[in-house]
Amino acid sequence: MMAHGSWWADEAGKGYRLADGLNDRMDRWYYIAEGRLSEKYYRHAIALINRNFTCTQCNAPLEIQKDFFRAQYVSCRFCNAVNTFEPDTKYAMIGWNVVDSMAALYALEEHDAMRRANRDGKTGYDHAVRRYYERYFDERIKLLPHTAVTREQDIERKLKQSI
Ligand SMILES: [Zn+2]
Repeated sequence: MMAHGSWWADEAGKGYRLADGLNDRMDRWYYIAEGRLSEKYYRHAIALINRNFTCTQCNAPLEIQKDFFRAQYVSCRFCNAVNTFEPDTKYAMIGWNVVDSMAALYALEEHDAMRRANRDGKTGYDHAVRRYYERYFDERIKLLPHTAVTREQDIERKLKQSI
């Protein structure tokens, strides 16, 4: 009877571990899918914006490379006129989530390491969490250069929330 009981306990344990594994894989899949969709959206939006963005002086095409969620000045390569770019509200609204998901995707390696570090005790985990957020914000800064000034505060804020 003891053997029977422990067999069930083992099977139940396997069931939980399997469910955990599945949840992990689902989470990871979602994480990647969200990042890739955001990337697509980002490229599409930037192409649309650039198609309609021309110099008010000479009508030459202007180009926004990134950071198209905020107002900015863009100089014309041909006549040097300074043009103001005002983001469309629809991009400004969704922009932050899109960029966050892309930064998360580019920090996938660190995110995986953070999950694995759960086993290595608190010190290993804290270190892995910090590495993840450093990478995450560095990637985010590439997309939103103006956020570079708050890099340290942003990392510390996230660490406080998650550790
Ligand atoms: Zn011009």
